[in-house]
Amino acid sequence: MTALHFAHALLPDGWAEDVRIELAGGRIAALQAGAVPGDAERHATVALPGLANLHSHAFQRAMAGLAEIGGSGPDSFWTWREVMYRFLARLTPEHVEAFAAQVFAEMLEAGFTAVGEFHYLHHAPDGRPYDDLGEMTGRIVAAAAATGISLTLLPVLYQQGGFGGEPPSPAQQRFVNDPERFLVLLARARAQAAALPGAIVGVAPHSLRAVDPDGLASVLAAAPDGPIHIHVAEQLREVEDCVAWSGQRPVEWLLAHHPVGPHWCLVHATHMTVTETEALARSRAIAGLCPITEANLGDGLFALRGFAAAGGSFGVGSDSNIRVDAAEELRLLEYGQRLAHRARNVIAPPGASSGRTLFDAARRGGAQALFRPASELAPGAPADIVALDQTHPALLGHAGDGWLDGWIFAGDRAVVRDVWVGGRRVVEQGRHRDRDALRRRYATALRDVLSAA
Ligand SMILES: [Zn+2]
Repeated sequence: MTALHFAHALLPDGWAEDVRIELAGGRIAALQAGAVPGDAERHATVALPGLANLHSHAFQRAMAGLAEIGGSGPDSFWTWREVMYRFLARLTPEHVEAFAAQVFAEMLEAGFTAVGEFHYLHHAPDGRPYDDLGEMTGRIVAAAAATGISLTLLPVLYQQGGFGGEPPSPAQQRFVNDPERFLVLLARARAQAAALPGAIVGVAPHSLRAVDPDGLASVLAAAPDGPIHIHVAEQLREVEDCVAWSGQRPVEWLLAHHPVGPHWCLVHATHMTVTETEALARSRAIAGLCPITEANLGDGLFALRGFAAAGGSFGVGSDSNIRVDAAEELRLLEYGQRLAHRARNVIAPPGASSGRTLFDAARRGGAQALFRPASELAPGAPADIVALDQTHPALLGHAGDGWLDGWIFAGDRAVVRDVWVGGRRVVEQGRHRDRDALRRRYATALRDVLSAA
């Protein structure tokens, strides 16, 4: 049995000192505060439960920063999407695996211990399925296995180019399945993930613009007791198109037509009325917020203050992976609200720390959205532990919740020192155990893709 001893740790009932954690079978077998280290490995750090990254498109990491050039007309999400489509047209399964492994390692170094991979790049560049329909899902599973991150794989159903059965564009052919073929792909993904300890497979109808009502219903029927993720109301044009198609706004349509509840994660949900915001909060679905990507794409601001006041639950995701940093996602989430409301400490209740409030909400919401056990340092829980460097300047002079405020508002991923997932140490002194090899493979794959441009 391995045992770890931390100077400080955030336990379910608060902060504790001299915490000895015994690991067995990937879980926390025993935990004692105020303990002597004994034979335990000593860590003079601040141990936190792991945070889930609930929304990622791993391959997009490789185009981070490649779409930051002004266009001839107004630039937007839609023009960014054209750049993304041109980029992915050249990707092979080997590229996708190399990019996913790189970004999963970065997530671990940034303090995320689990990822929800919203995976829609299924077919060959000409749009034809690979001989193995699960060629690409297998690459995502392999990247998770190689890096040690916990995976919730969310295979995406993508049927159409826009509301009302608009045909997919040539660039979208790599994503497209009819519901029947999607169910074959889903079965293949489940078989692949079964070989990876702790992996979970859910479903992801891409968005109301990309699936039709029958396709959506058939996907939901195929996944009665797993996570359901969907992009919704990210863009105003999408809201307008949805109203033109159905007479209802996207979140309004979804809540009216399906029993949206705790299994669901509505990604973005940026553009909602007050009525939609309160109804989504009551549904107990998770709002999957991706503040860095939403800022980069100019999506707009989620109504977090109203949603949280109505009791809504949320988590964070790195989505386009233009930056991978847990602290930065939470910071930007709060800063968006501060700028919008011209106020400080918008989410924290009176007397509470903003860092702690954001961290706890994202920790709970992320675990719920990815169908993972509650993320906490307690006997029986998975041994997913993130240890912060209390000697980092951003944490010096802090204690307790102040460590979270220091990390989130004054620090970044350099504060993350060691990370364990399922009891296995995957990050040591800020570096993923295979950082150099993964980077070399990433660099080779990226050169290959860019030289084909
Ligand atoms: Zn997304």
